[in-house]
Amino acid sequence: MKNLAIILAAGSGERFSGPVPKQFLKLGGRSLFEICLEKFQVHPDIDGIVLVCPDSHLPLVEDTVSAGHFSKAVKIIAGGTTRQESSFAGINAVPAGVKNVLIHDAARALVTPAVISRILAALAANMAVMAALPAGDTIVRVDEEAMVTAVLDRAKLSQVQTPQGFRLEIIRQAHALARADGLSNASDDCSLVLRYKLAPVVAVLGDPGNIKITYPQDLAIAEAILKNTVGRGGACPRPGTNSYK
Ligand code: C5P
Repeated sequence: MKNLAIILAAGSGERFSGPVPKQFLKLGGRSLFEICLEKFQVHPDIDGIVLVCPDSHLPLVEDTVSAGHFSKAVKIIAGGTTRQESSFAGINAVPAGVKNVLIHDAARALVTPAVISRILAALAANMAVMAALPAGDTIVRVDEEAMVTAVLDRAKLSQVQTPQGFRLEIIRQAHALARADGLSNASDDCSLVLRYKLAPVVAVLGDPGNIKITYPQDLAIAEAILKNTVGRGGACPRPGTNSYK
């Protein structure tokens, strides 16, 4: 097995504040989790998938996998209390012989095949890769008193997406070092590779439709994207800004 995806679906969706974790809400008759799983199932260069979900949802996920004939799902495991812990659990469940892992947030169920392909292509020559988009909005730093203390140079800023792809040994080492340091709250995996300077991290172009469904209103946007009315394939960095492709 060369390329394996780890899908993180063990969040409780606190900011979404509904009775069901957001990744199990339905869009067009299927859960976001299932929509996400299918993206990796049908990608020709993904060989296996590890699913990380809440302990309470293990039976539901097992049913979804068998009903949908998701043949690439090699393991279904319970996650941890933080995203970093869930990611660590997923990495530990990777079977022997895997070369590359792609770690992806189930909350980004609308990831495109092209983004997955760009990550895989970049992994041929790099140890750590993230999907990102040049920042569209101006971003400022705001202190505890709500005072704006800096206006950052937008041309140098990008918004991070998932998947993030790694050579398995690099991300294993990053998580081991983070745990040894008592860290458990990293919001993404590339940040750990950068923190311990284990490898350069390369950015490839994400997709504006690859949104993270975080708040209830994001569902309506996701529905529009799913119906192909906005976002798809329209990744279009402004000229003169970040040069990654
Ligand atoms: O909370 P956040 O939106 O950053 O979560 C990103 C992804 O990580 C989501 O798909 C969520 O289900 C997953 N996650 C997880 N385990 C946690 C927290 C978040 O798998 N404890």
